[in-house]
Amino acid sequence: MVQRRLSPASDGDTAIEAIERLPPSHRAMQPTRRHIISDTQGEHDPEFQAGQRSAAYRLHLRRRRPVNLHKLRPWRTIERRISRQIMVGNVSVGGDAPITVQTMTNTATTDVEATVDQIERCVDAGADIVRVSVPDKASAATFGRIVDASPVPLVADIHFHYQRAIEAAEAGAACLRINPGNIGSAERERTVIDAAVANGCSIRIGVNAGSLERRLLEKYGEPCPQAMVESALDHVRILEDHGFSEYKISCKASDVFMAVAAYRDLAEHTDAPIHLGITEAGSMVPGTVSSAIGIGSLLWDGIGDTLRVSLSADPVEEVRVGYEILKSLGLRRRGVTVIACPSCARQGFDVIRTVREIEERLAHIRVPVTLSIIGCVVNGPGEALMTDVGFTGGGKDAGMVYVSGKASQKMSNEEMIDHLVELVARKARQIETDASNAEGTATIQVDPRFLSRNG
Ligand code: SF4
Repeated sequence: MVQRRLSPASDGDTAIEAIERLPPSHRAMQPTRRHIISDTQGEHDPEFQAGQRSAAYRLHLRRRRPVNLHKLRPWRTIERRISRQIMVGNVSVGGDAPITVQTMTNTATTDVEATVDQIERCVDAGADIVRVSVPDKASAATFGRIVDASPVPLVADIHFHYQRAIEAAEAGAACLRINPGNIGSAERERTVIDAAVANGCSIRIGVNAGSLERRLLEKYGEPCPQAMVESALDHVRILEDHGFSEYKISCKASDVFMAVAAYRDLAEHTDAPIHLGITEAGSMVPGTVSSAIGIGSLLWDGIGDTLRVSLSADPVEEVRVGYEILKSLGLRRRGVTVIACPSCARQGFDVIRTVREIEERLAHIRVPVTLSIIGCVVNGPGEALMTDVGFTGGGKDAGMVYVSGKASQKMSNEEMIDHLVELVARKARQIETDASNAEGTATIQVDPRFLSRNG
């Protein structure tokens, strides 16, 4: 994709300022602008700190020189499109806010207990925002109780019935997802906008290739990126003409090519925050692969302010996959990242079983820590250099433990798992303490019950 950079529009006047002075209806059509953020939110960012201490980085630290991470690792840089920032409840979306992870409940919205339980499990896995479908009047009636119990802002998912949007807004939805293809007339949409304004909701214009307006299908002959973007921008005009700018946009398709093309085009036509997704991506493995390719490509282009991975699986898995995509691109960091080899005949211990057990026992940790578990000395010492904690198999029924890239002690394979879990938990506590001291606020508690299976 061509990355567009805007040069100053006039003396002392940046293109960004010029855009901001335009009437909203024109502003929505201005090309995008970008800034560099990459994973390099700075060496002072606690999310960034862990796992970034390669040998070269440590060398800089030892020499006590300022570290310019863009120069050190230019190949990690992503130029993120600058969007307008909106609020979804108390969560910022767009601008320089972290890219948020969303999912959607699949319980009956009328079953408040099951829905709240699922939301809480998703939040534990890292969801920043959760969407809940409001398909009928009975669901709208229970939606408010779910809002009250939810630890994160909720998006009400609306199709066909604009009245459900109004009821959800009044019940406390942080955002209304409306589908331009089935919400009905512009007049109905204006009624929804009035409800959003009255109740402090944002709106997502959620275009889906599978439910485009008949008019656009007749014009283009079939669902295509141009039709999707035209649908989105038509509805942007309605919102902007109504003076409403607290909106974000998605253009989802199950076809990765179509979705990526639509999002790239959309990003050139609006400064609104963009919600990414490959819709109906399928079950765990194919859906993860499609989403990683589609969402990952767009994020790598710098496009995207929030995302939802759609899987025919537990919503918790959607959150995990969403986070892993962001982690792979260094755009967010959370929890223990395990770098492990696939194992082969050289392995000095059972790598696969070890990784499975350790990931399970460390799943509760939220601060970013990196751990390498490598079967032999071919790659073990090298990977350990770049991780907070490491273990490399090699000797007879024993291997080497590494801490902060340095060989620490020999350890029997039998004792290794408990020891690594303890080391990682200790590292997590240290990072929390450092962050707490730096910011004067406590962050995340590590539950000591998870330090050992027998604890
Ligand atoms: S690191 Fe060693 S054990 Fe692991 S896959 Fe490579 S050669 Fe095999």
